[in-house]
Amino acid sequence: MSEFLTTPIEFLKGVGPQKAELLKKELNIFSYQDLLLHFPFRYIDRSFYHQVADLPYVNTYTQLKGRIVQLQETGIGRSKKLIAKFQDATGVIDLIWFQNFQWIKSNLKIHQEYQIFGRPKIYGNTWNIPHPEMMEFSSVKIIEGFQPVYHSTEKLGTAGLHSKGIEKIVRQLIEQIPGKIRENLPQYILNHHQLMSKERALIKVHYPLNEQDIQQSTFRLKFEELFYLQTELLLRKQITATKSIGGVFKSVGNHFLSFYEHHLPFELTGAQKRVLKDIRKDVHSGHQMNRLIQGDVGSGKTLVALLTMLLALDNGCQAAMMAPTEILATQHYVTIKEFLKDLPIEVALLTGSTRVKARRILHEGLQNGKVQILIGTHALIEDTVQFQNLGMVIIDEQHRFGVAQRAKLRSKNTLAPHILIMTATPIPRTLAMTFYGDLDVSTIDELPPGRKPITTIHRFESHRLRLFGFMKEEIAKGRQIYVVYPLIQESEKLDYNNLMQGYEAISRAFPMPTYQISMVHGKLKPEDKEFEMQRFVKGETHIMVATTVIEVGVNVPNASVMIIESAERFGLSQLHQLRGRVGRGAEKSYCILMTGDKLSKESQLRMETMVETNDGFKIAEVDLKLRGPGDIMGTQQSGDLNLKIADLSKDGQIVMLARDLARQILAKDPSLTADENQILRHEMINVLNSKPNWGSIG
Ligand code: ADP
Ligand code: MG
Repeated sequence: MSEFLTTPIEFLKGVGPQKAELLKKELNIFSYQDLLLHFPFRYIDRSFYHQVADLPYVNTYTQLKGRIVQLQETGIGRSKKLIAKFQDATGVIDLIWFQNFQWIKSNLKIHQEYQIFGRPKIYGNTWNIPHPEMMEFSSVKIIEGFQPVYHSTEKLGTAGLHSKGIEKIVRQLIEQIPGKIRENLPQYILNHHQLMSKERALIKVHYPLNEQDIQQSTFRLKFEELFYLQTELLLRKQITATKSIGGVFKSVGNHFLSFYEHHLPFELTGAQKRVLKDIRKDVHSGHQMNRLIQGDVGSGKTLVALLTMLLALDNGCQAAMMAPTEILATQHYVTIKEFLKDLPIEVALLTGSTRVKARRILHEGLQNGKVQILIGTHALIEDTVQFQNLGMVIIDEQHRFGVAQRAKLRSKNTLAPHILIMTATPIPRTLAMTFYGDLDVSTIDELPPGRKPITTIHRFESHRLRLFGFMKEEIAKGRQIYVVYPLIQESEKLDYNNLMQGYEAISRAFPMPTYQISMVHGKLKPEDKEFEMQRFVKGETHIMVATTVIEVGVNVPNASVMIIESAERFGLSQLHQLRGRVGRGAEKSYCILMTGDKLSKESQLRMETMVETNDGFKIAEVDLKLRGPGDIMGTQQSGDLNLKIADLSKDGQIVMLARDLARQILAKDPSLTADENQILRHEMINVLNSKPNWGSIG
C-alpha cells in the first residue's frame, strides 16, 4: 500500500485529533484509505426538484424551489420555534426551525425565490421540513451532481460528522488523490470489461456528476472486490487440492456391500447414486474431500451420509456425523441405528447432555477404535474428543460451517479427514460460490419415487371453520395432520398461550373418542414428549399439535396435512422445512398457511412464494433477497468476507462474471506467474497472508 493511503486520518485537513478519535471508534476509519473505502450507501439527485404536491410520495431527502410567503415565531421557552410558509406552484408547506433560528429569522427574505433541501416529515396531517438547507435561487450554480449519502452515527453527528460532514472531509481527500492511486487490476481486464481506472472510480464514487458516473464507478469497485474474492477462493481450492493429503479409500468392503446388498430397504435414486459416485471419486484421489451436498428436504441425504461413512469404515477409519441441534443429532442416531440394526457396527451418540461417566467411556471407545461411528452435536469437535483414526466427517444442516471451522476439523487427525457437508436449505448460487467457493458441490435434484408435489394454500383466520371441515375429510380418509405453532424465544409465554388456545379450539372441534390428539411442546418432559410423538408415529392419534420442535426429525409418511399457524411469523426456509414434513408418503399432501388478515408486504411475499413453488432453490433466492446474506449465512461469516461495496444479495450477476474471469485466468496461469498477472499475484499474496486462520495454507 502506498504511503499516501496509509497516512493516519488525523492528518487530513478538517479532521484533527478529536474527530479522528471518533472516526476510529465509530467507523473503524484509521487511515486515508479507510476513508476512501467508506463508500456512500446512496445518492441524492441535486439536479431535480420535487413539487410540494408530491411530498406525500417522497420519503427521502428532497429538493424544492419556491418562495417564503410568511414567517412566524410560535411557542414559548423550550417549545419556541420558527415556522416559514413555503410555497410553490402546487402548494404550501411548513419549514420549521427549533434551534438557532434568530439568525435565520433575520436573514430569510420574504418573497425571495429559494432552493431548499431537506427531509419531509409528517406531523398530524400536515407535511413539514425541519431544518432545511436554504439557498437563494439566484445564487444557485447549476448543480448537476449527485450528493453522496454516508453512514454516520449519532456521536459522529454531534461532532459535525453527519453525512454532510463526512462528505466534506472526503472531498478534501479526493482533491489530493490524483496520481496517487495505484491500479490494482491488470490492463487487459480493464480493457476487456471496459472498467474505469481505480483512481477514477474512487473519485467518481464519492463525487459523481451524473448517473453514469455512479453506475460505472460502483461497477468497477464491486467487480474488483468480487473478482479478488473469487480468485482467492479458487486459489485456496487449488492449494487445498494439491497440499492436503487425504486418506485413500481404495476398496468398497464388507460393511458397505453387505448393507447395500442386503439391508438397504429401497433402491437408491439416480441422484443419490450420482452423488455417491462423486464421493467415491473424491476419497479415491489421495486428496482430502471437501464436498457440499445440496438436496431438498426429503431427498434422502441421510442415506448418502450413511453409505459414505460405511466406506470409511471399510478402509479402517472411524466416521463422525455432526448435526446442529440435539434433537436432530438424536434423530440421526436413531435412524442410523435402525438402518444398521443387523450389522455388527458400533454407533454412539454424543451431545451436550451426555453424562460425564458415559462420556468418559465414549472417549475411551473413540480412542481405542471400538466406536466406529459417532453421531453428535458440536460437542464432537471439542478438543477433548480424540479419535483413533477419524477418516470421514459428515456435517448436516450447517450452512454456517465455514472455512475456519473446516480448518479446525482438519487438525483432528494426522491425515486430514474427508469432509462432507449436507444442506437442505439450498444456498443460492451466488452465496454458494462465495461462502463455499472452495468446495466441490453435488446436488441431489431428485426426490425418492412416489412423492407427489405438495399443494400449498394460504388462508386467513376467517376461513377457520372451513379448515376444520377439510381436516375432518382428510382424517376420514385415514390421514394424519400436523398443526404447528410458532415458537420464538423472546415471547415464549405468549407462544405457549397461543398453543394452548389452539389446542383447546381443536379439542372442541375434534372431540374424543372419535378423534385423538397429540401435543408436543418445549415444556414437556422428554419422556412425555417421546410418548406423545410415538402415539402419532404409530398412527394412534389423528392430529399432532406442536411447536416447531417438530421441524426437524419426525418422519411420518401417513401425515398428509401440515397446517402452520401464524405463518407470517416464520421465515421462508423454516416454512419450507416444515412443509417437508408432509409429502413423504404416497398420498396427496397439503400445506396450509394460516395468517392474520393484515400482512406486511414482506410476509405477503413469503406466503406467495410458498404457494407458488416447492423448489427449495427458488425459495432460497427469495429468502436471500428478503433477509440478506448476513442473516442466511450468519453475520460472522458474512463479516469475515469484509465486503465494502458489493452486496451478495443484489450483485449476483457480478459474482458470476467475476468467478468466470477468475476461473479462466487460473486455468491458464495457475500460479499467476505470467507477466500480465503480476499485479494479481502481488494482491493475492497479501490477501492469503493476511488471513492465516482461514485455512491451512502453507
Ligand atoms: P433429507 O434429505 O431431508 O435428510 P432423509 O434422508 O431424511 O431426507 O430421507 C427422507 C425419507 O426418504 C426417509 O424416510 C428415507 O428413508 C427415505 N428415502 C431415502 N432415500 C430413498 C430412496 N432412494 N427411495 C425411497 N425412500 C428413500
Ligand atoms: Mg436430513
